[in-house]
Amino acid sequence: MIMKGAKKILFLDRDGVINNGNAYYTYTIADFHINKDVIEGLQLVQQHGFECIVITNQSGVAKGVYTLHDVERVHQHMISLFAQHGITILAIYVCPHHPDIEDCECRKPKSGLFKQALAEYDIDISKSYMIGDSERDIIAAKRVGIQGIKINKNESILPYCKHIIIHE
Ligand SMILES: [Mg+2]
Ligand SMILES: [Zn+2]
Repeated sequence: MIMKGAKKILFLDRDGVINNGNAYYTYTIADFHINKDVIEGLQLVQQHGFECIVITNQSGVAKGVYTLHDVERVHQHMISLFAQHGITILAIYVCPHHPDIEDCECRKPKSGLFKQALAEYDIDISKSYMIGDSERDIIAAKRVGIQGIKINKNESILPYCKHIIIHE
């Protein structure tokens, strides 16, 4: 049963979708570059009643390449950049683990972070989508019944955002 008032969510992977994902890890503000059309795409979906949640694997934390504090600082920067364009991010979920160091239930393609989002917010999964540039993003979303949209790394999300609002 679809609950009245349930949120339509556009879930987004971070690296390679929101920001340039060419570097193996992105953990400084200097290296964080928003991809073309992301602002326009997110403005569009928000105007059509979608809210945005970011779900990101950051195994560099487990590997000691950077810290959760670095991740948080990049995310505060991302949030303020978006805010300048009227875009609000409802939540950001981070998996800091790597199976070589420590197994977890949250690293995509596992769906732990999606389950957490579904537990914390009233989400209409039938009207929600996940845009990711990796097959594991799509697998994780499908495990909880959310439709995945696979893009190429750093591909414009705008055509997919237009598709989403037309088909919702
Ligand atoms: Mg990615
Ligand atoms: Zn994890």
